[in-house]
Amino acid sequence: MRTNYHTHSRYCDGKGELREYVDYAIAHGFSALGFSGHAPVPFPNNFSIRQEHYLDYCNEVRALKAEYAGRIDIRLGLEIDYIPGVLEDFTLLIEQGGLEYTIGSVHLIPNPDDVETLRNLCATVQGEERQQIPYHIWFIDGPKQETYDKGLHHIFHDDIRAGVKAFFHQQNAMIERNRPTVVGHFDKIVMHNHNRFFQYDEKWFRDLLYETVELIRESGCIAEINTRGLYKGRHTDFYPAKETIQYMNSLHIPVLVGTDAHEPSNLDQFEGAYEFLKEIGYRNVVQALPF
Ligand SMILES: [Zn+2]
Ligand SMILES: [Zn+2]
Repeated sequence: MRTNYHTHSRYCDGKGELREYVDYAIAHGFSALGFSGHAPVPFPNNFSIRQEHYLDYCNEVRALKAEYAGRIDIRLGLEIDYIPGVLEDFTLLIEQGGLEYTIGSVHLIPNPDDVETLRNLCATVQGEERQQIPYHIWFIDGPKQETYDKGLHHIFHDDIRAGVKAFFHQQNAMIERNRPTVVGHFDKIVMHNHNRFFQYDEKWFRDLLYETVELIRESGCIAEINTRGLYKGRHTDFYPAKETIQYMNSLHIPVLVGTDAHEPSNLDQFEGAYEFLKEIGYRNVVQALPF
């Protein structure tokens, strides 16, 4: 049984029509395909579904679901950014779109001591000036290490521990408040670190990481094993790393492999994830989301 529930498209920062992903999935023997475009955010950016296209996205996924019923199980989801002061509650997006599942992810981190500034900017600033809003948020994802380093400098004054702590605490708040179906790539903060600012096994980092793992266990959310860093050559491990997956196994946390596809051919780039899970005897692998 092949499935993937972490899928982008031309509606956000991916390439290709939704239908091209469906055709690829069917041709490659998938039994289920979930779409999880980046949720709209209220400031200019080049990665999320635009607010005015959100319902078109939902309706198109639903139409494909009906059209392909019996051939492949298509599901309507969304990868939602939890951003303090900006996007804290997922309910409206879930209800407006009629979503079947959510992936909760953190890619954008304001300084927790300065969330009010961001909240006010989003609420009051109009027109061209809105271009300034992203400069108040640390963007930890995307292809450029330079963006990560600049954000760390401007928003956290190069204090990596403060930035990493904000990342994990933001995820914890997201899990507690929204209980997303799946928690996406929850150690992605390491992607552009490349062992420059800290090592994965440093105690302060491990403590923050394990606090989130514990919260995922308590919340009943599914933890994602995301393969994108590997096939994009941006990281040498899954998100989260193998050693963390082993720890998660001891806590019986359910995991779901997601390729975070941004083009149809990414859909089956599993990068040995299932083999690894089998090798370590992982006990709770979810292959089809329980609906
Ligand atoms: Zn993501
Ligand atoms: Zn994604």
